[in-house]
Amino acid sequence: MTVVAAHPKGVAVLGSTGSIGTTALRVLDRQRQRFSVRALTANSNGALLREQARQFSPAFVGMVESQPDADGAWKSGTEALITAATRDDVDIVLNAIVGAAGLDATLAALEGGKRVALANKETLVIAGDLVRKACGTGTGEVVPVDSEHSAILQCITGHPTAQVRRVVLTASGGPFRDWSDERFASATVEDALRHPTWRMGKKITIDSATLANKALEVIEAHFLFGLPYENIDVVVHPQSVVHSFVEFIDGSVVAQMSVPTMELPVLYALTHPERVPDDGVPTFDPVKLSPMTYEPVNHARFPALRLGVAAGIAGGAAPAVFNAANECAVAAFLNGSIRFADIPRAISSALEELGAMPGASREELLAADAAARRHVKEMFGC
Ligand code: NAD
Ligand code: MG
Repeated sequence: MTVVAAHPKGVAVLGSTGSIGTTALRVLDRQRQRFSVRALTANSNGALLREQARQFSPAFVGMVESQPDADGAWKSGTEALITAATRDDVDIVLNAIVGAAGLDATLAALEGGKRVALANKETLVIAGDLVRKACGTGTGEVVPVDSEHSAILQCITGHPTAQVRRVVLTASGGPFRDWSDERFASATVEDALRHPTWRMGKKITIDSATLANKALEVIEAHFLFGLPYENIDVVVHPQSVVHSFVEFIDGSVVAQMSVPTMELPVLYALTHPERVPDDGVPTFDPVKLSPMTYEPVNHARFPALRLGVAAGIAGGAAPAVFNAANECAVAAFLNGSIRFADIPRAISSALEELGAMPGASREELLAADAAARRHVKEMFGC
């Protein structure tokens, strides 16, 4: 028998107009008995936000950049994110904002005792220690939406972390995995945006092509599960069916699989540690999904992964510098100002120059973030 809560849990979806945001609303639409959408926020896509507000009738709508809607009911500015994340009628904050812009809403929600269903991995990369501290003060908790971390959580739930020897994050390898060196040297924005297995926002799609995304995810895993960096490995798995492996201290390896869809990790982040009936995920057919293959990372072609892991190991402001340099370089690549290979160059140069900046407080981390963005802009004159 399935027990449905008498009172649906209140959910705020930050970044509701993006790839994860729209995926989450599809899940929430099927799960209206269990969850009620109480707040929606977006950056600037007013038309889609209006349509979502009509469909879900949330008590609060915020749009950061643009003017509020005609009748003045919508809130604007970055405070709208904090207001949405800390409302009394909100139990779960699904943070699907892209980039450093999501940080303050995560911290505010955690300090307010909410569950944060976290897609915005940049939050943990910039300020993992502050996030851990914010969780330690009350009932606030982070449950990952990222598919690899959801997989790890699904594998380890019920086991103390001390029983985990190692995790292996899977990576699709991105669109350039099997390109010749010659072809790779002239990769365009359009090429980089053609991800083989996932349809996602532009920034994470470029991060997947450079493998900077996997570096962000190694740091994310370190902070989420308290694992030392030497116990977090990465393997390329082009089919994106196994979402990660967990190796336990007795040598047994547990993996979580599904066809590539973000609907499952979004739903699990809302219901963890429970599972609820849902028919959004296509049936698993191991024959159709065969073969599943694995290969090592080509670090010479994708230096961003090692740069990011080294930044994670260095700690302090280094992960924030890595993240900000990457965000800035990806934006420059997307607008045609720099080449694909300039992205890891920008990251490396920013880390060399600024990686040792202090990073104990939010203010220090934001100063390092701003310095890294300035550094990349000066480097390329953009
Ligand atoms: P996206 O670009 O499709 O959507 C981003 C959302 O954030 C939009 O709703 C946008 O309005 C909002 N936003 C952008 N800038 C903002 C700002 N300055 N202030 C407030 N809101 C802002 O991105 P996405 O692909 O949905 O990714 C969102 C996050 O989820 C990223 O951190 C990404 O790494 C992570 N993630 C995404 C996927 C995926 O499948 N798309 C998978 C795993 C993790
Ligand atoms: Mg991922």
